[in-house]
Amino acid sequence: MNIQHQLQHIQQTIHTLCEQVHRPSNSVKLLAVSKTKPVSDILTAYQAGHIAFGENYVQEGVEKIQHFEAQGIKLEWHFIGPLQSNKSRLVATHFDWMQTLDRVKIAQRLNEQRPANKAPLNVLIQINISDEESKSGIAPEAMLELAKQIENLPHLRLRGLMAIPAPTTDITEQEKSFKKMAALFEQLKQTFPHQPIDTLSMGMSEDMPSAIKCGSTMVRIGTAIFGERDYSAK
Ligand SMILES: *Cc1c(COP(=O)(O)O)cnc(C)c1O
Repeated sequence: MNIQHQLQHIQQTIHTLCEQVHRPSNSVKLLAVSKTKPVSDILTAYQAGHIAFGENYVQEGVEKIQHFEAQGIKLEWHFIGPLQSNKSRLVATHFDWMQTLDRVKIAQRLNEQRPANKAPLNVLIQINISDEESKSGIAPEAMLELAKQIENLPHLRLRGLMAIPAPTTDITEQEKSFKKMAALFEQLKQTFPHQPIDTLSMGMSEDMPSAIKCGSTMVRIGTAIFGERDYSAK
């Protein structure tokens, strides 16, 4: 896998998809999902000009963050995995974004644990949009209540919503979930006009075209940049 080449290719794809639906190409940000990948791959992406990386596992993410801090390389780190409350301090201490917030209790912990010398932690509320079986994400009806609680936490900054719809190759099904997310995102912005709500994180390798068509502002791409993941070594 030529990481530099793949990054360019995906940026070009995002650009084309945006043009097709008459959106500015800088309205969709690319998050490079580097879970299970070595720091050497992240360094390659950084040298190709990429700054924003997503990690799913707390310990692995923190090790990578510390590695690059020690080198004096400033990257932007997004936590995108499920978070157990006993690991919240590591996320609050090291990450710049937390995309999978779905409980008041975790929000309160992150707020208390965010170091005072750091900018507020950017958070996205994760919505359980299509997969009722999944334990991650809150029901759409619970969004505004959680957002109200977050609004009162000074060390968190509510930036928007995130979703991982149930995987399907059916475009109509994909768009159904993403349109629901776009409507919720509008509702959130209108209800909290004074919050910097600007991020709708949806779309992965398989469903990026539908996500961009429906208003995604951040796509999360792993395999198509770094190649298949090998979990056997873990
Ligand atoms: C792993 C992961 C991705 C990237 O998935 P790919 O299929 O490798 O592009 C995106 N979002 C989340 C939340 C993930 O866990």
